[in-house]
Amino acid sequence: MNLRPEEISSVIKEQIKGYRSPAAVRETGTVIQSGDGIARVFGLTEAMSGELLEFSGGAVGMALNLEEDNIGCVIFGAAQSVKEGDSAARTGRVAETPAGDVMLGRVVDALGRPIDGKGPLGAARFRPIERVAPGVIAREEVNVPLQTGIKAIDAMAPIGRGQRELIIGDRQTGKTAVCVDAIINQKGKGALCVYVAIGQKASTVSRIVSTLAESGAMDYTCVVVGGASESAPMQYIAPYTGVAIAEEWMERGLDALIVYDDLSKHAAAYRAMSLLLKRPPGREAYPGDVFYLHSRLLERAARVSKDFGGGSITALPVIETQAGDISAYVPTNVISITDGQIYLETELFNAGVRPAINPGLSVSRVGGSAQIKAMRKIAGPLRLELAQYRELAAFAQFGSDLDKDTQDRLRQGERIVEILKQPQYKPLPVEKQILSLFAVTRKYLTDINVEKVTDFERKLHEYADANAPELLSELAEKGELTPEIERGFAELVETFKAGYVTA
Ligand code: ATP
Ligand code: MG
Repeated sequence: MNLRPEEISSVIKEQIKGYRSPAAVRETGTVIQSGDGIARVFGLTEAMSGELLEFSGGAVGMALNLEEDNIGCVIFGAAQSVKEGDSAARTGRVAETPAGDVMLGRVVDALGRPIDGKGPLGAARFRPIERVAPGVIAREEVNVPLQTGIKAIDAMAPIGRGQRELIIGDRQTGKTAVCVDAIINQKGKGALCVYVAIGQKASTVSRIVSTLAESGAMDYTCVVVGGASESAPMQYIAPYTGVAIAEEWMERGLDALIVYDDLSKHAAAYRAMSLLLKRPPGREAYPGDVFYLHSRLLERAARVSKDFGGGSITALPVIETQAGDISAYVPTNVISITDGQIYLETELFNAGVRPAINPGLSVSRVGGSAQIKAMRKIAGPLRLELAQYRELAAFAQFGSDLDKDTQDRLRQGERIVEILKQPQYKPLPVEKQILSLFAVTRKYLTDINVEKVTDFERKLHEYADANAPELLSELAEKGELTPEIERGFAELVETFKAGYVTA
């Protein structure tokens, strides 16, 4: 074979002329169809699932359906600006959100852009919104309580740092109220909060933000909004953005509390998006991966060991049920993913039992290990007495002459129900909760009129603040009901009651 140098050099020259650095190539495709917030793009053969795309009109999209000859992507924001024939360029990045302490006190949209009119965030760090949840090795036992300040929850369905506790109930049963109270109660306790509003009216969100601001809770809270007026894709990514913000704190060893209000609307947004992307519908027309949609989100709540930062994320997902049906598709999914649920009931709410927590159906699968010792001791008999009361109360409606024992149980049950009532935005510190529960479980309230119980409790707290603050602070410090504290409490309640009854 005869090698001719001029031929070789011409081939090489040809190749050099045609050479383009792969890094410099911004792969671009063409929009072949656009509508309903969805675009089909031809020519982006290398795009990743979840990658952000830039359209020539300025809009941003996310590649979701990678098909053989085109890709289906959702458009964030102004979808009508994307037209057929526009070009779409890969960015090489997946969706990200700014994170860190700059987020505190801010209200941002689902892409982490501020919408509170307080100027740019000046964020130094960005995090991808999707991340694989911490594995088994990275996790630690959940045994540090996260106080919500709500007596019925802290006593009967205690929440631990790193736990996922579902708040479930029909519309207008006080679901949001429970979450907002839990956020307000984090003041000074070190847990930073993220409130994710999904599919809610702007007026509702703005009311929540101003409530948080009034109680000084915005100082340690970030609000992420995927509002009702925004497109389904924005509502879909909002909770992932929220948890990414919380993860930044968890990795720094801090405790975070995140509220997803609510995941029913999140599932509905995902359903809308999936149907428009022509993914096949399954049960209740939800796509097949609606379980994974929520499990990959909620698994990111964790308490991690020192080697992995040592912080925690506690998640309070909210689910709205239809006519109390907790066995519908999405509610059962989320119940099985979480570590317990707080079930709010319309009948109780209308009967004036607020928060309307059903003690029979509300559980925490972390249980007593997420309570301080004193609370565990005092709240032990509470559930049982309450369950007995509910059973007896149903019976007592029929008969009139009840034996003494039944009457006593009914009396006690009524007073427990009464003491567990709590107004909105008034979370109680744990030592005062214990004082209230002490008074009722040790039967000091048996001869107090039921209507007077709330008044008695309020005045008892005032009395304790004025006369025995050291007792309360000692309990808060030790976390244990020592015999001395117990004696002190008994004395306190007795002297107060003597004065109360004569007054
Ligand atoms: P939605 O289904 O509309 O989201 P929700 O279940 O989140 O409703 P909230 O908005 O929290 O319910 O509460 C409904 C109403 O009940 C509000 O007007 C609120 O002020 C009132 N409410 C909630 N909790 C209490 C409480 N503990 N005491 C008195 N009123 C309460
Ligand atoms: Mg609500």
